Amino acid sequence: MAHAIQVHKFGGPEVLQYAEVQVGEPGAGQIKLKQTAIGINYIDVYHRTGLYPNTFPFIPGSEGAGEVIAVGAGVTDLKVGDRVAYAGIIGGYASERLFPADRCVKIPDGISDKTAAAMMLQGMTAQYLLRKTYKVDKDTTLLWHAAAGGVGLIAMQWAKHLGATVIGTAGGAEKCALAKAAGATHVIDYKADKFVDRVRDITGGRMCDVVYDGIGKDTFPASLDCLKPLGLFVTFGNASGAIEAFNPGILSAKGSLYMTRPTMGTYIATRPMLLDVANDLFDVVKKGIVKINVTGSYALKDAAEAHRDLEGRKTTGSIILVP
Ligand code: NDP
Repeated sequence: MAHAIQVHKFGGPEVLQYAEVQVGEPGAGQIKLKQTAIGINYIDVYHRTGLYPNTFPFIPGSEGAGEVIAVGAGVTDLKVGDRVAYAGIIGGYASERLFPADRCVKIPDGISDKTAAAMMLQGMTAQYLLRKTYKVDKDTTLLWHAAAGGVGLIAMQWAKHLGATVIGTAGGAEKCALAKAAGATHVIDYKADKFVDRVRDITGGRMCDVVYDGIGKDTFPASLDCLKPLGLFVTFGNASGAIEAFNPGILSAKGSLYMTRPTMGTYIATRPMLLDVANDLFDVVKKGIVKINVTGSYALKDAAEAHRDLEGRKTTGSIILVP
């Protein structure tokens, strides 16, 4: 019998209920996946609280890895026994699930299921943010908030590899040390210091080409003050809450700034786009350029505890559930 975490009402971690579920057999174009590891991401919190709405009951979780145990009609490029991983379609907190075959990727040899489950969503996000939303290179100075988090630690390594000057913020000395070890050129403890002042000092007043902000409410609008004229503000998450409505005039007042609110779905919308982003990620992981830091593993039934740790800012790097 399969098990899953179900949500019947929005709320705190306690609404994550462990239950038996019927998965059924794959339909046309689908596979049935026996999951061996499930990624935990901040978006799971938004789904649980209702910041990103869903209809009830739903199974949260947007990332996982495992073994194909059945294939539906018309699936030709996957077979029973293949190891696959995915990111981006809700329903992940489950021991088994059905999934569209064309939204999975095969896990390359040398990458474990646990690593794959931990890296697909956070790693593909780091990929598109650093390589597509803004094309980071050796001439780029960037600011990245929550640099010791899941997306953050991947981004530190990747941005360093691209040759950028990387300024990472994190809450506390320990997290700052992790971000620095991962590749940040400079780190700022934004619990202790005003990050805008520190960015001004570090850059000699030149400020940044691009700011990556997954914090949202608490770092807005200060993040805009870390940009050069014509700089790009990438607001890609809301760990502290969503940014409230504002007058776009603030972008002109602060130097004709650009702003984007990207989501991974747009960047992996088609099969070729998904393969392009995933293969770039696999490449840097296989070459050892990016190491995936799986720092916590929880039993599927303990998803609530994992959420408490994530929201309580107790985690670093990537964390997973194991069915
Ligand atoms: P993290 O592991 O980075 O966890 C969130 C971190 O945010 C915390 O560890 C904490 O780090 C920091 N933080 C700051 N303020 C708060 C607060 N009030 N409450 C909780 N945490 C806070 O999570 P992920 O790596 O999973 O995701 C990082 C961000 O990226 C999230 O905003 C997520 O939604 C976003 N994201 C966006 C995607 C997209 O395509 N748009 C895709 C994937 C992720 P510290 O203690 O150092 O401040």
